[in-house]
Amino acid sequence: MINIPKGTKDVLPSQSHVWQYIEDVSRVTAEGYGFREIRTPVFEHTELFSRGVGDTTDVVTKEMYTFLDKGGRSVTLRPEGTAGVARAFLENGLQGGVMPFKAYYVCSAYRYERPQAGRLREFHQFGAELYGAEGPEADAEVILLADALLKNLGLKNVKLKINSIGCPACRAKYYEALKAYFRPHLFEMCEDCNARFEKNPMRIIDCKNEACKKFTAGAPRAIEFLCDGCKAHFEKVKELLGEAGVPFEVDPSIVRGLDYYSRTVFEFTSEAAGAQGTVLGGGRYDGLLAQYGAKPTPAVGFAMGMERLLMVMEAEGAPMPEPPRPDCYLLGMDDASRKKAFLLAEELRKAGVSCETDLMARSVKAQFKYADKLGARYVVTIGENELAEGAAEVKNMDTSAAARVKFEALAQFMTGGEEDDQRNERA
Ligand code: ATP
Ligand code: MG
Repeated sequence: MINIPKGTKDVLPSQSHVWQYIEDVSRVTAEGYGFREIRTPVFEHTELFSRGVGDTTDVVTKEMYTFLDKGGRSVTLRPEGTAGVARAFLENGLQGGVMPFKAYYVCSAYRYERPQAGRLREFHQFGAELYGAEGPEADAEVILLADALLKNLGLKNVKLKINSIGCPACRAKYYEALKAYFRPHLFEMCEDCNARFEKNPMRIIDCKNEACKKFTAGAPRAIEFLCDGCKAHFEKVKELLGEAGVPFEVDPSIVRGLDYYSRTVFEFTSEAAGAQGTVLGGGRYDGLLAQYGAKPTPAVGFAMGMERLLMVMEAEGAPMPEPPRPDCYLLGMDDASRKKAFLLAEELRKAGVSCETDLMARSVKAQFKYADKLGARYVVTIGENELAEGAAEVKNMDTSAAARVKFEALAQFMTGGEEDDQRNERA
């Protein structure tokens, strides 16, 4: 037998309703904030990610699924959603359209990581992107959307942590301080951090290597180096969140995993998710679109890991939807009534009643058992007498109430709340 690749998962028919529920709640919530869905390709030119996500990040240096296609072009399975959206925005000339641009996506993403709970090689993200608005209201609105999303999905114990990592102007001074701090320890730190030291010393703070972590804990914090503009921006974001009633904690240690962030960064974390505690992460990335050669366009957004979200929902005992059940199972007692059941099922489906009927030549008893397993609301039984009469015996499986219903009245009976009337008629 051929097995599923490491770090990937199937969603089986018995589970897909949970995914549909998460997606539906996410879509409805985002649309309430004026975001519309965008869909972009699973693979892009590799350069899109190396330039956008950043070539000092773990994602780009170690985790990308990159390959040459048959035409010899280097392509990469998207490791995240933002770069593709940014490309689509520019390529389709949306900069000249209605601003701010607001879009959400639901997509799979690919990272060659060591698989463990909450860390997969194929995973799914729900994300939001807001381009063109530089003010703190945009940061706050995106965070409010993220907060609403998690609340609408029934989570109660996620914590919002925010930070500001400044802009290129204040970062120059910050990088100097960081370099001065790390320089004496470089020989004890990993190779990656030595590379980061030159290119993007802030990335060192995110290093997962134990030897490096020893030094990162005491490193200078970006928040101590903010310029006046960044300070005022951050104050306003905090003020808006506070007045909107969204509790948060300022955590100066958050820097986020991708290169493109500036100013606001935030994470929603849960202790219920275990080691992989970050359910949703985001922030502002005013430099990203310019990286792609566009005129500078401010941007802010987030991505939520859907597998991690599901883990947290399960751990918190958040409400989950019931699996869907068919409205009706049509049971035929002999060959002639089986055929009638088969044809009636199709008529009922056209009238909006979800139906199943026997496809396995089961006995009457086995059909009842099957209907019960399906959780059918009604079992409609047809035998010789029913065929002659043109009416079926209908049993409501929740209440055990039974009724005789004309074939042509079945759809109305099961969808129109006619049940009580019919019972009265019979009485
Ligand atoms: P981490 O620090 O946990 O590796 P990250 O900073 O790499 O996260 P982002 O790039 O910000 O993560 O992605 C946003 C969200 O996507 C994360 O908060 C997480 O919920 C989810 N995510 C990221 N990588 C994975 C993965 N390999 N498997 C499952 N979910 C993931
Ligand atoms: Mg990561």
